[in-house]
Amino acid sequence: MKVFKFGGASVKDAGGIKNVYDVLQKVGHDDVLLVISAMGKTTNALEVVVKDYFDKSAGLQSSVQEVKKYHNQILMDLFEEENHAVFAAVNKIFTDMEQFLRQNKSPNYNFVYDQVVSYGEIISTTIVSHYFNYRGLKNQWIDVRELVKTDNTYRDAVVNWELTQKNISKNVKKKNLNITQGFLGSDENNFTTTLGREGSDYTAAIFAYCLNAESVTIWKDVPGVLNADPRYFDNAILLHQISYREAIELAFYGATVIHPKTLQPLQRKEIPLYVKSFLNPLLPGTCVSKGADLEPQTPCFIVKKNQLLVSLSSLDFSFIMEENISEIFALLHKYRMKVHLIQNSAISFSVCADDKFGNFHALKALLSKKFKVTYNENVSLYTIRHFNDKSAGTVTKNKEVLVRQVSRETMQIVTRDLQ
Ligand code: ADP
Ligand code: ASP
Ligand code: MG
Repeated sequence: MKVFKFGGASVKDAGGIKNVYDVLQKVGHDDVLLVISAMGKTTNALEVVVKDYFDKSAGLQSSVQEVKKYHNQILMDLFEEENHAVFAAVNKIFTDMEQFLRQNKSPNYNFVYDQVVSYGEIISTTIVSHYFNYRGLKNQWIDVRELVKTDNTYRDAVVNWELTQKNISKNVKKKNLNITQGFLGSDENNFTTTLGREGSDYTAAIFAYCLNAESVTIWKDVPGVLNADPRYFDNAILLHQISYREAIELAFYGATVIHPKTLQPLQRKEIPLYVKSFLNPLLPGTCVSKGADLEPQTPCFIVKKNQLLVSLSSLDFSFIMEENISEIFALLHKYRMKVHLIQNSAISFSVCADDKFGNFHALKALLSKKFKVTYNENVSLYTIRHFNDKSAGTVTKNKEVLVRQVSRETMQIVTRDLQ
């Protein structure tokens, strides 16, 4: 079996969905499991719905309306008959979502987030499945929440591999074209969970692992893994083949073309990962596979924007040692801040971190009791793998360098824009 993943960009409008159909015609669709994300920027739009809901904003109705309007347009562009069953099916999903918002009693933001945001994937897969049937391409729609079991860390759920393996082995029929949702799972009580933003690539890897798939292909709007994000760097070069290790490093530091959790399950079973263009599906793209010798011969640039640089120094000139560092890390973990760079000296300790859940100010209040806390918001972290003499200059032009760190293979630079 092969696992294919189509992300938001590939199904952002009716043309995109027709193109996914064409891709399958070109590359084959028997014995395939398709993992599909929410359409276009739907997840962001549903995040606004959740925010409006908690803010008790008058805008709630219009933010829901926005998501409906977007999907309705796609439906009208795809299906000629207005009474096609898909209209009722999608309508029912929206009704469920609105009912949830009316009846919910939970004040837990992250819980509500997962219950609401997950509708994006449910809707997209419903539309795609109906559309394929409409075009004569028979397929099986699978509710991923019945298969991928997780703990209840809402918005960043941890997979229960044992249960998930059992469910997938029992329920996914080989030889079929199966369609399921990326990004979602469910907890012990069958409440919906999500695996972290952009988590659909990871879902593809979970299925591939549990099905012992032949390969995974993630279909993207770029030709494959490039040595830099083409949105921020000119003249990015395609990397034809890289090792799991290299891909993990690139993804971890922020090459968003692959979700960082995707590689581990694939590497464990040596399942190759292809990253290909959904616009040129017959081109080879990038192959990620085993092989220590698959290091890129060219520097790879990765940027993470909107980071926090936090520096702590002791109030009484005492050293910042193992004991304090472990305490600081326990707090960073508790406040769900993801650390991407660490630097320490005798009496100071700095981290560059992502405050994805907006917890920094609460954490800062706590840290300030023991340390002098200074910080910069909105800094950029550049990571350059396989850097050369010219690399640093490429990223520091018109920027103030706040931290620079160099190891054998990797250079990291934290910058802020010059005012
Ligand atoms: P999806 O539609 O699956 O969600 P994403 O938008 O998450 O796709 O991933 C594709 C995007 O990743 C590209 O449009 C590109 O801007 C970005 N990207 C970041 N780093 C890289 C890289 N090293 N190579 C290719 N694309 C990259
Ligand atoms: N729809 C989810 C997101 O936008 C998951 C994904 O696209 O991978 O984060
Ligand atoms: Mg994405």
